[in-house]
Amino acid sequence: MKTLHFGETTVSRCVESEGPSFFPGFIFPDCDPDAFEAERRDWLDPHFVDADSGRLLMSLHSYIIKTPQHTILVDTCVGNHKHRPDTKPWHMKDGPFLEDMVAMGVTPESVDFVMCTHLHVDHIGWNTKLEDGRWVPTFPNAKYLFHEDEYAHWKTAEMPEGSGNTRREAYDDSVLPVVEAGQAVMVSDGHQLEDSVYVESSPGHTPGHAFLHLDSPDGRAVFTGDCMHHPVQVAYPEWNSRYCFDPPKSAATRREIVERCADTDTVVLAAHFADPVAARIVSNGTRWKLDLDIG
Ligand SMILES: [Zn+2]
Repeated sequence: MKTLHFGETTVSRCVESEGPSFFPGFIFPDCDPDAFEAERRDWLDPHFVDADSGRLLMSLHSYIIKTPQHTILVDTCVGNHKHRPDTKPWHMKDGPFLEDMVAMGVTPESVDFVMCTHLHVDHIGWNTKLEDGRWVPTFPNAKYLFHEDEYAHWKTAEMPEGSGNTRREAYDDSVLPVVEAGQAVMVSDGHQLEDSVYVESSPGHTPGHAFLHLDSPDGRAVFTGDCMHHPVQVAYPEWNSRYCFDPPKSAATRREIVERCADTDTVVLAAHFADPVAARIVSNGTRWKLDLDIG
């Protein structure tokens, strides 16, 4: 993804990992194979499906928004040294994500806000890092924004100790230390980080899922988190992922944002779309597709 410019504000992404991932029928239980293949031929190939395996091409990345006032990080991937035995590539990971961020000119100290669209394990990992055997906030000067409904859900969710309970561990090692350090800010619909940057509630995928909007005189973008996991959901917003907490609500929220953005100048930036990532939504007959040629 090329760095996007909205006047003096820039948006870039720092990639933790990218490549072939799920088969479409696994992550989208309602996926119709013939319909998928038709979208593939029409516009998904070659960017969003691996030609050899037929697996979806997906990415784990953070967005870095630099406005004249602030440096804002959107979602923080999987993180290093985290105990995630039920997802092998994520378990005790040791990758160069932070070094890559520094190479992009973003030091941990320079981050003012960390926005977590939701509190799933692949969106909170770099919230913390291991230091002398303790999990501490990776970004020492940042306020971490968690939607109040999302935090309330995970705080009280039944996540008993035991194997396969990554979400309990993720809360304990990537959310709680931030709260205990006094760096967490619980936000709600409409919360403004600055004049042109604000939070919008978008429940469904998780109870307190939230979008972040950049809405400036120089252009608009929306960071949609996991409302859509893959671009095919632009064409088929009714296809929920198997990880959606409230499938009907998730589908309704997804359709609403697709319809709202379609044929406008709003750039859509999802948490797992593969390169070139950034796109506008345009009408495509009775459905929609991504226009990747956003200039
Ligand atoms: Zn995710």
